[in-house]
Amino acid sequence: MSQSPLPRFNDTAQAFQHLSDAELRRAVALFALIGKPWLVHVGSALAHLALKLRIPLGWAVRPTVYAHFCGGESIAGSETTVSKLAEHNVQTILDFSAEGQTEEERLDATCAEVLAAIQAADGDKRHAFAVFKVSGLSDNGLLERVGNSKAKSSALSQEDELAWQRVQSRVRALCEATAQARGRVLIDAEESWIQDAIDDLAEDMMSDHNKERVVVYNTVQLYRHDRLGYLKDMASRADEGGYQCGVKLVRGAYMEKERERAASLGCPSPIQPDKASSDRDFDAAMEWVLDRIDRIHLIAGSHNEASNMKLCEGMKARNLAPNDPRVWFAQLLGMSDPITFNLAAMGYNVAKYVPYGPIREAIPYLIRRAQENTSVAGQTSRELELLKQEQMRRRGTS
Ligand SMILES: Cc1cc2nc3c(=O)[nH]c(=O)nc-3n(C[C@H](O)[C@H](O)[C@H](O)COP(=O)(O)OP(=O)(O)OC[C@H]3O[C@@H](n4cnc5c(N)ncnc54)[C@H](O)[C@@H]3O)c2cc1C
Repeated sequence: MSQSPLPRFNDTAQAFQHLSDAELRRAVALFALIGKPWLVHVGSALAHLALKLRIPLGWAVRPTVYAHFCGGESIAGSETTVSKLAEHNVQTILDFSAEGQTEEERLDATCAEVLAAIQAADGDKRHAFAVFKVSGLSDNGLLERVGNSKAKSSALSQEDELAWQRVQSRVRALCEATAQARGRVLIDAEESWIQDAIDDLAEDMMSDHNKERVVVYNTVQLYRHDRLGYLKDMASRADEGGYQCGVKLVRGAYMEKERERAASLGCPSPIQPDKASSDRDFDAAMEWVLDRIDRIHLIAGSHNEASNMKLCEGMKARNLAPNDPRVWFAQLLGMSDPITFNLAAMGYNVAKYVPYGPIREAIPYLIRRAQENTSVAGQTSRELELLKQEQMRRRGTS
């Protein structure tokens, strides 16, 4: 067993070193606010309304939630965040999150922006991975029809066929650019009704680029009851095809939407029956991948302390050094700093998703962050408790 000690996630001095006293005060105020579900509910509804009516929100959002959860309005504007993270051995995953686009020009523009992020990371060790959502490169309806046509072995319309070819070439361009830059790229997982098309694309890209090293990573959401099986099947296909897998494991972000849709269609929900089942499969998936780490590279995207600790223990039990290049940890900017910065201090490979882009486009992302923080039992209060502990420590009152 490896001798390296395990991290402590309650070391607040280490966790919040990167925050000035003013930033710490802002974080305490923010987490106190988003810990109140009614406020998040009302605030989200008002923000959606303001977006619809094109009422400017920048004055309220820029110095508060945006400054806390986003890197900046552009790649260059995120530079301060990227450098600050790197000073503490935390790497960046620049995340231009444009979702739900439909017009071809906007899909091309998103592709060009992700390409710019891949090129900005080329040769810059502060960046760990590139990332994109296929829904930023394709109309969602098309992704659903592609998945259905495959399941039913039916043909796409000619128009859809052409649009699908354009989506494939965008995805191909991003993966090729990443391979050329000697980088790695994560393909995010999304709603189950568009995920089959995304999985097929991701597996095609892995088979093209993961022969010599792991360039492309697909994402597996363990809040779905069928995904541990999918992970194993994906790995078998990679073995048969003579390429390696890259996998990002997450629990999954669209639970309410998935359940509502299944109920409205009268079909069984793809989501696990309870949180304990999602936790069980997430941890089982990590163990399964660690046992095959020579063939499947792993990035665990989670804010769950117990799962992050299990991954550290699993690495230790298998004699993997904390900085083994095949294992990564990741959290979102502004969330779970005690996990991120304590892992980094112990030499683990850890990165933050750093969302960036114009404020208007970031608002749906920010609303989701606030809602997620209210729906994740215990997470916000834990975060708030540690932030307050650090305030007291700095004042010399703890
Ligand atoms: C770096 C990173 C990348 C991510 N990428 C993606 C991505 O590509 N696609 C994506 O969908 N999500 C992604 N996420 C979000 C992720 O899926 C989770 O929504 C989020 O991280 C919360 O889960 P957790 O493991 O951090 O912690 P926890 O707080 O322990 O778990 C909360 C999660 O558990 C599950 N859950 C909660 N209640 C129940 C219940 N009653 N029954 C069943 N399951 C339940 C839900 O998935 C919920 O989000 C990413 C997260 C991170 C940190």
